[in-house]
Amino acid sequence: MTQSNKNEILSLFKEADALLQGHFLLTSGKHSEWYFEKIRLIEKPAALEKIVDLLIERIRGENKEFDYVISPAYGAIAIGFLVALKLGKRFAFTQRVEEKMAFRPGWSGLDAGTRAIIVEDILTTGGSIQEAVECLKQKGVTLAGIYVLVDRTGGAVAIDGKPVGSLLALKVEAFEPDACPFCKAGVPLTKPGASDKK
Ligand SMILES: [Zn+2]
Repeated sequence: MTQSNKNEILSLFKEADALLQGHFLLTSGKHSEWYFEKIRLIEKPAALEKIVDLLIERIRGENKEFDYVISPAYGAIAIGFLVALKLGKRFAFTQRVEEKMAFRPGWSGLDAGTRAIIVEDILTTGGSIQEAVECLKQKGVTLAGIYVLVDRTGGAVAIDGKPVGSLLALKVEAFEPDACPFCKAGVPLTKPGASDKK
């Protein structure tokens, strides 16, 4: 990714108010200057569309064959749906059914022999994506690729032996509270909205 691309993508995230600067308590217990408020991505569809268009450019460039775009519920549903709509593919999502990630009954075409890509909003540990991969395996659907808008690991994670295609690979520095420069500077700590993801 070129620097200008990266800056363009960062500014699109800021436009969506999805990338916040301050002093944040992460779910890991560490503190960070940056926080992705991913729900904001779907709150402003016009801003999201610009970001998704860049992801679509990347997916098109890889010339993969697939029938479905799959996203893990809930935040990524709008993103995967938009990707599917623009690429003329089918869409489905996985969700937690009694804690376990699954396809609810009702999807009609997720059969053995079909091919799917997974689209997720933000990769932090890859847990939700890994679970979606297992759901596809159970149906005999071939995984053709994994794409995320933001890879918080900075490209360090491969899932099921496959690289993750990201629009923005950004390793955000996180500090233990007793080593946090923002705590030392007396900046008020913000606890961002809790996520339903595991
Ligand atoms: Zn701090």
